[in-house]
Amino acid sequence: MSTLYVTHPSALDHAVPAGHPERPARMQAVERALEQERFAALVRCHAPKAETSVVELAHPASYIESLVAASPEEGLFQIDSDTLMSPGTLNTCLHAVGGSVHAVDAVMKGECANAFVAMRPPGHHAEVARAMGFCLFNHAAIAVQHARKAYGASRVALVDWDVHHGNGSQDIFWADRDVLYASTHQMPLFPGTGSAGERGDHDTIVNVPLKAFDDGEVFREAFEQRILPRLDAFAPDLIVISAGFDAHKLDPLANLQLDEADFGWATRRLMELADRHAQGRVVSILEGGYSLDGLARSVAAHVDALMGR
Ligand SMILES: [Zn+2]
Repeated sequence: MSTLYVTHPSALDHAVPAGHPERPARMQAVERALEQERFAALVRCHAPKAETSVVELAHPASYIESLVAASPEEGLFQIDSDTLMSPGTLNTCLHAVGGSVHAVDAVMKGECANAFVAMRPPGHHAEVARAMGFCLFNHAAIAVQHARKAYGASRVALVDWDVHHGNGSQDIFWADRDVLYASTHQMPLFPGTGSAGERGDHDTIVNVPLKAFDDGEVFREAFEQRILPRLDAFAPDLIVISAGFDAHKLDPLANLQLDEADFGWATRRLMELADRHAQGRVVSILEGGYSLDGLARSVAAHVDALMGR
């Protein structure tokens, strides 16, 4: 079975000030990586635009309305020092949500083995009703909720290897006994959350903080010892990956020392787990990754693994 690749040209339309690391060139780096001949077998599709009602799977209507009202007709609306809206942002984000939901549809219906959604900005810092850390809507959380609502998935695992802790995803699923949120991340680092003691109301939050300059060996050991056993015991119906690639050693925003082979390895471990419990169902959604070279190499290794290589 095939791997689905979902993106949309509007990912270039979220404008940021000069020097902002979360920039349109990230998407061009991903596109260039996946243009290589060895990815010719990918099934490619454009992310449909979601209705705002779909965003309500993870965020209250009042929050969405406040962002719609804040959307600028020109210039930039600064939500905080890192997070902003340009005239194209809302449309971009609705395509990112629509693409994530579409990937869940395709995987849950068995139309493809797994899927990778590459849009920007990322989403995992977006809390229930707060935009931050470049993120407005939490695409991965919406994908999880869609799988439960539309397909009756009873347990969904959200695995987040972005170098930053996904405070937004943790916030959204804190009291949810049927979603396991598992994260490796550098600590201390933005956003400051993610200690191992943060476990959620029902012990379904698994935080595995790593130290600056920890390498792939430490990451793999953390994954094998702390993340995979919890996922195995949880036996999810679907695995959603918050696939940030800013733990790559080339990344300018953090200090972990992973290379692209580590992301390929982690992808294959999750696929094995999905084969055991979830009929192989994996939906991967791009989060961070701010070295264009590190991002391109990591995406290639990740998608190679999704394609069974
Ligand atoms: Zn990040």
